[in-house]
Amino acid sequence: MSEIIQFPTRMQVEMHGRSVSELRETLKGFKSSLVASQTAALEAASVKIISIGDYPEDRITKDDDQVNWEKATSEDRIYGLKATRLLSFSDGAHYKMENNCERCDKKFVKKVDLRRVEDGGDIVCWEFEYEEHRDAFKRGVPFEGKLRDRLIKWRLLYGEDEAQIERIAQNNPNANTSDLTFNMKIVEVEGMHRNDVDAWLKTLGDERIELQDMMAEASAGVDLVVDAQCPWCDCVQDATIPFDLEFWIPVVQTQRDRRRRRREKALKKTVR
Ligand SMILES: [Zn+2]
Repeated sequence: MSEIIQFPTRMQVEMHGRSVSELRETLKGFKSSLVASQTAALEAASVKIISIGDYPEDRITKDDDQVNWEKATSEDRIYGLKATRLLSFSDGAHYKMENNCERCDKKFVKKVDLRRVEDGGDIVCWEFEYEEHRDAFKRGVPFEGKLRDRLIKWRLLYGEDEAQIERIAQNNPNANTSDLTFNMKIVEVEGMHRNDVDAWLKTLGDERIELQDMMAEASAGVDLVVDAQCPWCDCVQDATIPFDLEFWIPVVQTQRDRRRRRREKALKKTVR
């Protein structure tokens, strides 16, 4: 099955579904890098670009109208992976997440419909809301805003940035990936050498939220956080849809797997 998928950046790509065995074959050898395996899955599922949408003219297209997924925004990549799952599996839209309740600590399953809200699902997607942001993205220049009377310039993250963050995190077990991600988006802080910027960002406190809000306003994306209500204590909490290998290669449970799990369960009970 193939379909034209429109991304948050309005890029349109013809994509097709892959069988579980095809996906497994594609992803062999990518176990050490989640980002590389995501790129491989996206490459395997996309056929060709129909329209580049808001991307700069020379950014996103490889030879033969293929998408250069390393140059695609992180948000478009997530959207593409979600689309791959929808196209590949007969029940791809329905995803079950296991949660641990923050209040009562009991486990529960949250069912998510991965289709866009406008198609009857749970996933919220948006395009650039303001023309100035769309225009900056199209021209390949940073977005701008003011904080503490300083002009701040930032950009979106791309597949190649995710790969770099992953490399840094693998080499520094203590690295905080959410800080790395945030810092990498900042291109320039007025009147400051880039080497001093990361330390300055640490001093922001509550203003960091202000800056993150500005960044969120200048984005075209997809929201991975859904409300999950615990059936045991009714507490409603945020649950983030993961994008690991298991997300797009659902584990096929065989009779033998089920028997093995039952045995393990029984064993645990006797140990207790
Ligand atoms: Zn609970």
